[in-house]
Amino acid sequence: MNKKTLRDIDLKGKKVIMRVDFNVPVKEGVIKDDTRIKGALPSIKYVLEQGGSLILMSHMGRPDEKGITSDTTMKIVADYLSKLLGKPVVFVADCANADAEVAAMKAGDIVMLENTRYHKEEQAKCKQKEGESDEEFKARKAALKEQQKELAKKLASYGDIFCNDAFGTAHRAHASTAVITKYIDTSVAGFLMEKEIEYLGSAVENPVRPFVAILGGAKVSDKLAVVNNLLTKVDTLIIGGGMAYTFLKALGKKIGNSLCEEDQIQYAKDMMEKAKSLGVKFLLPVDNIAADKFDPEANTQIVTEIPDGWMGLDIGPKTVELYADAIKSAKTVVWNGPMGCFEMEKFSKGTFGVCEAVAEVKANGGISIIGGGDSVAAVNKSGLAPKMSHVSTGGGASLEFLEGKELPGVVSLNDK
Ligand code: AMP
Repeated sequence: MNKKTLRDIDLKGKKVIMRVDFNVPVKEGVIKDDTRIKGALPSIKYVLEQGGSLILMSHMGRPDEKGITSDTTMKIVADYLSKLLGKPVVFVADCANADAEVAAMKAGDIVMLENTRYHKEEQAKCKQKEGESDEEFKARKAALKEQQKELAKKLASYGDIFCNDAFGTAHRAHASTAVITKYIDTSVAGFLMEKEIEYLGSAVENPVRPFVAILGGAKVSDKLAVVNNLLTKVDTLIIGGGMAYTFLKALGKKIGNSLCEEDQIQYAKDMMEKAKSLGVKFLLPVDNIAADKFDPEANTQIVTEIPDGWMGLDIGPKTVELYADAIKSAKTVVWNGPMGCFEMEKFSKGTFGVCEAVAEVKANGGISIIGGGDSVAAVNKSGLAPKMSHVSTGGGASLEFLEGKELPGVVSLNDK
């Protein structure tokens, strides 16, 4: 990786302000899944072992949309982390007001700031309001951007070094993820961030071949840029899930009431043409599990084309076989998006069948990367996560990476 990491700098006696992804699910004050907290422990422990001290910051939930609740406070995480580490974690109730606590820190101390998104300028999201003129909107947006800089400056003032270990928000240019780097000399990646960039980056830029990408999920329109970018990199592109039906319709197949984005049919045709001209194998379902309604108890049939009144909710057994063969022969596999409505048992076999094939890649000496979102949920549900080379922690961020975009939280870090 060409970005500096914690390993590249001297941490002794230094205060490190670290952006972590502690956006954990909380219900009635209880953390339901601590994967993200545990994921940050290697970076946290390393800073402390090297004689540094830590100011941790993160967002949790969507307080900007859903309001501040007792389940979005970082106090819950501070207490949890304190138990995990067996040492005090000082909680600061306003991320922009931590001067006293930070001044009192000694080597080995940890301070955890309150949810950064309690300040709207963290994200500086700005939409034109009804009745607001263009001029007024522009002025309001500019003022919010100024406030964002002020918050970033404040956060930067707490530390000697900024460390970003929050890959999940690296695609956002927020005060605590990217803007902060303008106000501090040293900005480095944490170990979780390093791992994400190494896996996703090398898969896309220098894949060991054959390189197979699997895309699924509901919508083509969400994955337009990913399909377009990956076609220039992969040997085989596999499409499943709801998005497959727009491609099948573009080929003149019957798709019944399956998901279809009419306005993407031309795009689907263009992508299949592009695959042909680049010599990329483009695999679509050859059979489907069709249902008479969108329901766990629906009647089902296995069909090559979807009859009128029915909808395709999973790939069929022949398709699973076809996809598994392509996947097992790969040396690099990237997967984003389920092959069907795997949340319903009747339509989960395609996703889990693909999951099993992907799990064999690592055992055969290849690299398997689960690129965030619902495919991560499916892999976790299958119990096969330990058999994958890398399960990404960032849904949106990993998708943008696969689109070939530069992530603000990554580019803003110091080069080696
Ligand atoms: P996405 O967020 O775009 O990755 O889509 C994930 C969602 O797509 C999951 O909730 C799946 O249930 C849904 N999905 C997958 N296949 C289909 C399908 N054939 N028809 C409708 N929804 C689907």
